[in-house]
Amino acid sequence: MGNLVRSFVGHVRAVATGLRYLLLPNRMTVYYPEKLIELPEGYRGLIRYYPELCVQCGLCAMVCPAGAMKMYVKKGEKRGRPGVNYQRCIFCGFCADICPQNALEMTKVHDVAYEKLEDMILSPEEFAREVRSPALEEGAVKVKVIFSEERGLVHEPA
Ligand code: SF4
Ligand code: SF4
Repeated sequence: MGNLVRSFVGHVRAVATGLRYLLLPNRMTVYYPEKLIELPEGYRGLIRYYPELCVQCGLCAMVCPAGAMKMYVKKGEKRGRPGVNYQRCIFCGFCADICPQNALEMTKVHDVAYEKLEDMILSPEEFAREVRSPALEEGAVKVKVIFSEERGLVHEPA
């Protein structure tokens, strides 16, 4: 009997929570670019290439399922270095995972806009530049998302 009552009360509370969120919805988005959500470890954003670590094995380009990673061979050199085409990249992270040198890093930066399609094709030199979030550059405040039973999703300073 006790279990039945507990179960009933649990269901009533769940329905009440649903109704509360329906009638008084909480804001779930942030005021970008003033605020930026702190992303979890393992988030796969734009990729950074570290040429000083690269042994030019070409595995990253071989494994790429989208044909986004390509080796660029300089005149007079036998082996190339990777560049990426963000028109094709699906951010699977296979290239970073397979790299034996950890020369590729999936950064948490995701809010970069390109003016022209051709700007999305990065040569090895461009690929090696630091990846920066324009919002953070402009002083965005980082917030983290927490779940509150009473208030739903809440954003707090990270
Ligand atoms: S993240 Fe995936 S799709 Fe993008 S370049 Fe790497 S392997 Fe290719
Ligand atoms: S897998 Fe790593 S070491 Fe090999 S070419 Fe790509 S970035 Fe360089």
